[in-house]
Amino acid sequence: MTVVLSFYVVVAVVCAGISAAIANKKNRDTLGFLVIGFLFGPIGVLVSAVVAQGRAPAPEGFVAVTCPRCNTDQNVTRDEPKFECYQCKTESRVMEAGGDIVVKR
Ligand SMILES: [Zn+2]
Repeated sequence: MTVVLSFYVVVAVVCAGISAAIANKKNRDTLGFLVIGFLFGPIGVLVSAVVAQGRAPAPEGFVAVTCPRCNTDQNVTRDEPKFECYQCKTESRVMEAGGDIVVKR
């Protein structure tokens, strides 16, 4: 019984590590996929392998925003209250609310 249980724990820990590594490489939530890999084992690894690529982190002094009109991602300087989308030229406001970046037209 304890051999079977320890086998499941080893598989869960290995799958958690693999899921977290794949998620980290795809700019996804590493801690979240660590938990998913631990709880669901090989299924968690499969989910982390097929999940879409996340958004790359913005460089220092910039924030990554998504245009509310055309969904284009771009990096804008952190201290600018407005930005113009380079695709559709829509001007949007950038606000920080509780640590999150909020974009409104
Ligand atoms: Zn746009």
